[in-house]
Formats: sequence, C-alpha cells, structure tokens
Amino acid sequence: MKLNDKGMLIVMSGPSGVGKGTVRKALFEKRGHRLDYSVSMTTRKKREGEVDGVDYYFVSREEFEQRIKENKFLEYAEFVGNYYGTPLDKVMEKINAGKEVVLEIEVNGALQVKDKMRDAVMIFIVPPGKKALYDRLRSRGTESEEIIKERVEKADREFKLAHYYDYIVVNDDVDNAADRIMAIIRAEHAKTERSIHKYKKLMEEK
Ligand code: 5GP
Repeated sequence: MKLNDKGMLIVMSGPSGVGKGTVRKALFEKRGHRLDYSVSMTTRKKREGEVDGVDYYFVSREEFEQRIKENKFLEYAEFVGNYYGTPLDKVMEKINAGKEVVLEIEVNGALQVKDKMRDAVMIFIVPPGKKALYDRLRSRGTESEEIIKERVEKADREFKLAHYYDYIVVNDDVDNAADRIMAIIRAEHAKTERSIHKYKKLMEEK
C-alpha cells in the first residue's frame, strides 16, 4: 500500500518506561504539523487517570477476540498478558484525510505494520540508560515489582528488534526527543519518492 498522496503513518516503539507517551505529548504540542494520534484498543485494566476513548478503548477479552476474527485491526499483539491493537478503520480514515497518524505500539505489532505499509516511518525510542528505565517504571507507582521486572525483561528483548526501525531517538530530554522526531517527519516529507509526483505536476503547468 502506498501512502504518497495521502497522509503518513508514523510508528513509535520503545521499551515500557522509556517515556514514549510523554514524548508523544510534547510532539503534539509543537506547531506546524498535521499529527493525529491513533487511540489503541486494549484488554488491560484502566490505570488511574486514564480515560476511555482518549488513552485507550478499554474492552473485554471476548470483545477483542471477536474483533480479531472480523479483521478489524491493522495490527495487534499480546503484551505482558493483555491484548493491544490498532483499529484499522480509524487509521485509514485519518490517513485518507491527509493526516500524519502516530501509532505508539510495541515491536511485534510494529513489525506487522511495516509488513503491510512499506512507507510507514518507523521510530524506536531508547532510554539514556537502563537505570532510567527502572526509575521511570517505579516512579509511575502503578505496577508491582514483579510486573516491573517482567517489563524490563521485555525491554531487553525489544532492543534486539530495534534494527528493523528506520530511526533511533534517545529520550535523554523530552523536548529534545520531540524535536528530533519532528525533524525526522520533515525530512520524510521531503523524500523524493514521497514528493516528486507533486513537483512533476507543477512543472507540467504552462
Ligand atoms: P501500557 O500497558 O504501558 O499502556 O502499554 C504496553 C505496551 O503496549 C507499550 O509498549 C505500548 O506502546 C504498547 N501498545 C499500546 N497500544 C498498542 C497497540 O495498539 N498495538 C500494539 N501492538 N502495542 C500497543
């Protein structure tokens, strides 16, 4: 599938605790973009402060599995005992409207997207060090020590798949990380394969 004339799909992954959500929010606050976030669906329990339809669509396992059968996901994966997936219809609507759609998803799902949409821009966010990862997961205060350990082990496995991504962005500072991602998006817009058809049309004008 080609996205040339439509919007752009931007996939952001990175280990749990790397601060993806914070970087994403900082990115959306920057000016001069057409970014739109794709809200995922999950069977995970709602954390305090999370809002249904904003952070995630929270559904039961039965409902999620029904949607899998009906091919309603662009991708989905199981992550530490819960399902997470990207609703296909919503993403396509946004892309067809020319938006730059951001997916914040784990690696197995991201690889499914790369397979289906070759023009997707794949960005992997890394922490400045492992300690930063532990500190951030603990400070969240929402998960038990056992789950934290599980998430850090999962991070080790995720790092091994980082070479499938187009870009690596270090989250040493939230604003710097968001600036780097914005620079990547601008550069992607200027890529010949995305932009040459527009200029060809212009040059054909008398
Ligand atoms: P959390 O439970 O911390 O909100 O998310 C756990 C992991 O699931 C994170 O790495 C997050 O990026 C990922 N995730 C969130 N939504 C989706 C989705 O729709 N699909 C996939 N594959 N992963 C997702």
